[in-house]
Amino acid sequence: MKNVSSVVLLALATFSCQQVKVDNNHQQPTKQIKNIIMVVADGMGPAYTSAYRYYNDDPNTPTIEQTVFDRHLVGSASTYPAPISGYITDSAAAATALATGVKTYNDAIGVDVNKKPVETVLEWAKLQGKKTGIVVTSQIIHATPASYLAHNESRRNYNAIADSYIDNGVKADVYLGGGWKYFIRKDRNLVDEFKANGFHYVDDYNSLNTIPENTPVFGLFGKKGLPWALDDKDSNRLSTMTKAALPLLENDNGYFMLIEASQIDWGGHGRDIAAAMAEVDDLAKTLEYLESYVVKNPNTLVVVTADHSTGGLSIGRKTAKLDKSIRSSYLWQPQILRTMKNSPESIAKKLTNELLTIEQASELLNFKLTEPELTLLKAAKLKGKEIIKQFNLLSKAEKKGKWAPAKHDALLTAIKKIIDVRTNTGWGSISDSGTHTGIDVPVFAFGKQKQLFAGSIDNTDIAKNIFKLLGKK
Ligand code: MG
Ligand code: ZN
Repeated sequence: MKNVSSVVLLALATFSCQQVKVDNNHQQPTKQIKNIIMVVADGMGPAYTSAYRYYNDDPNTPTIEQTVFDRHLVGSASTYPAPISGYITDSAAAATALATGVKTYNDAIGVDVNKKPVETVLEWAKLQGKKTGIVVTSQIIHATPASYLAHNESRRNYNAIADSYIDNGVKADVYLGGGWKYFIRKDRNLVDEFKANGFHYVDDYNSLNTIPENTPVFGLFGKKGLPWALDDKDSNRLSTMTKAALPLLENDNGYFMLIEASQIDWGGHGRDIAAAMAEVDDLAKTLEYLESYVVKNPNTLVVVTADHSTGGLSIGRKTAKLDKSIRSSYLWQPQILRTMKNSPESIAKKLTNELLTIEQASELLNFKLTEPELTLLKAAKLKGKEIIKQFNLLSKAEKKGKWAPAKHDALLTAIKKIIDVRTNTGWGSISDSGTHTGIDVPVFAFGKQKQLFAGSIDNTDIAKNIFKLLGKK
């Protein structure tokens, strides 16, 4: 009797366990995971995270300190766009792949090769009752965030993309980044429209501390993108914004959040290692914060990847023997990068408008300039003036279609050259506007279900996995 009842009880127990399991699978697929944080590091190919390890190294210790990237590397992703655009992607096609799982043509924002809108993970997450948010250092209608929030045949339709943030339904609860130029216009004030939709508007970082609870927030902190991390009042503005956004997104159903370190790419385009390293540092601080966040909120997944690499950055370089000014040993010397306090761009502007002396230049660069370096800068300053003079001599017709040069351009190029020579940094790109390269990008993941992103994957797999985790069949 005793035995029989045990068997029955055991059978019942087994049966009820299975019941519970089946119910879980059927009714609450989205409960598998609560929060998903997707981090896109624009332009951050593998050379950037390696360079950051040495930039971040404490030279007073015998070891090379591990970085947050080293701790969470799980694999790599291919980034090629749809065949019509060849092998090298732009940020729009790559972000569309990361957001929708669909490869498309370069320039496409959330549309396929036939220009048809494709659903994004952010839109799907919202449909599942999750809160959604974006935190970026570019203008919030730039290619990467736009590919999660909008559908447009061209990334260049900035105002149309901004309009769609209201006209196609408000899709996020938190927007933090730059872009006054696109939201406060003569023809339309979209900030007022966001306010009318119940959003709390902020336009300086300090106000992020005073956001009322349970209120959606719309924060713009720059005309277009935010200032360079090196120049911004808050050099860790990405982590500041992220820390402010997280409590606004937390809720019983969880959230999907996009964070973008947008300006690593801009440093790469400009072949500006100083600006690029400061942007990677801002991202690293953000990820370190998220590491501790995930410990406290274990039902959270963080996935980090780049959309492509930019500029053909190389750690060390060897150049023609003719150019004696440039080293050709096996060296990379990031020392001066660690102490930079201003971006090369802001230094160039300042030295264009003010007296160019060795003291002033050394103070701005935060290292002692040599006489030959000063000579280089002085020549560049003159060249800058001459370029403007020549441009102004052109007729209206001749000027048409040409980029108007800026007074500080030549000086900026010279400053970056000095930094490249001192650090021995190389760039595959030979133009000042830079380029993307087709190399695979690293993938980092930590928290719940991070193993889904391991190994050699494609950028579309990232969206496909996120859709799966969000219960999409
Ligand atoms: Mg971007
Ligand atoms: Zn780019």
